[in-house]
Amino acid sequence: MSTTSSPVGQVTGQGTAQAIASAEAHSAHNYHPLPVVVSSAEGAWMTDVEGRRYLDMLAGYSALNFGHRNQRLIDAAKAQLERVTLTSRAFHHDRFARFCEQLAELCGMEMVLPMNTGAEAIETAVKTARKWGYEVKGVPDGEARIVVASGNFHGRTTTVVSFSTDPEARAGFGPYTPGFDVVPYGDVAALEAAVTDRTVAVLLEPIQGEAGVLVPPPGYLAAVRELTRARNVLFVADEIQSGLGRTGRTFACEHEGVVPDMYVLGKALGGGVVPVSAVVSSAEVLGVYRPGEHGSTFGGNPLACAVGLEVIAMLRTGEFQERAARLGDHLHEQLGRLVGHGGVTQVRGRGLWAGVDIAPEHGTGRQISERLMDRGVLVKDTHGSTIRLAPPLVISQEDLDWGLAQLRGVLAES
Ligand SMILES: *Cc1c(COP(=O)(O)O)cnc(C)c1O
Repeated sequence: MSTTSSPVGQVTGQGTAQAIASAEAHSAHNYHPLPVVVSSAEGAWMTDVEGRRYLDMLAGYSALNFGHRNQRLIDAAKAQLERVTLTSRAFHHDRFARFCEQLAELCGMEMVLPMNTGAEAIETAVKTARKWGYEVKGVPDGEARIVVASGNFHGRTTTVVSFSTDPEARAGFGPYTPGFDVVPYGDVAALEAAVTDRTVAVLLEPIQGEAGVLVPPPGYLAAVRELTRARNVLFVADEIQSGLGRTGRTFACEHEGVVPDMYVLGKALGGGVVPVSAVVSSAEVLGVYRPGEHGSTFGGNPLACAVGLEVIAMLRTGEFQERAARLGDHLHEQLGRLVGHGGVTQVRGRGLWAGVDIAPEHGTGRQISERLMDRGVLVKDTHGSTIRLAPPLVISQEDLDWGLAQLRGVLAES
């Protein structure tokens, strides 16, 4: 395969170079992808336009928890494609009630409000918490406040970036939506000090994914639960990335025995097939809505519900959670051996989810990611020198070990 002088690297062939050059010319540069152009995928593996195979250790930021083209999910989607795909919410359809019922049950909650993307579900959570604050808690109109954590990632809409602490995500997009108070993640005292009688919700990721797979100190989530309950404030858990099996439990909150007032779900809920997100909560909270007050043309569409129902059925057996826990223990045991020597300074995470800090002398996170790509492993760096590992939960232990061997190899040679 011929190589080019393009900046995408020497191993890159013509098909790859052309696809990337064309994408650069015709798409906004709001991402900086690794120079690989995927054309097919199955399970934990992807194949590029040159026919090279790669182990996917990112899994679409956990949207692909069940692997690429999981047969059960593809079958469910195909069957629904043959029946009806979209009705809008102007009419009922025969998948909707069951999806909502089953999702509420999986969450131990009562009601569901389906949307499409994670950011939309967060927007929905914000609107819901405010409305609950005014109608149920009795906060004076227009004065509701929501407490969030530094280092958060909840999506990319204007309201959501308004309470981001990442200058890249936020700068240049003002004016910002008011009504948010930011406290340090993991700091119970700071949270307690920030809560006032105007506070309607505390919105947190039980593990901060984009921040580098940060696990809060033990007892933090339980303390947040206790505090929010005592102060009549909703505990909103953004489990878009941490939920649905990734950490070895259905929800990351479970590791501390915590049940929030509201789950925000997305990513894996659509099985890597379609975008499906949802807010799941009690009848008291989601009961605040009346017709016309919120909605989405595609939210809760038949195809989304059919795929989502299959995702829920797969999670109900517990086998994916058990697998994530077992392989996760193995992953963290293996990564732990690289700490101190072997180029790793710190490892965090739970289940099949790890943030791996690389000693700077071994290169930036981006450089490590590129060297892993050359060895057939796809990962994503975050915040300079952290590599995030989140393989599909269906990965075999052999493949996981092979991927880790490539990481050891990259660190050894750099
Ligand atoms: C990905 C993510 C979001 C946003 O989801 P989109 O579907 O990209 O809008 C929100 N919160 C968390 C924790 C996420 O990981």
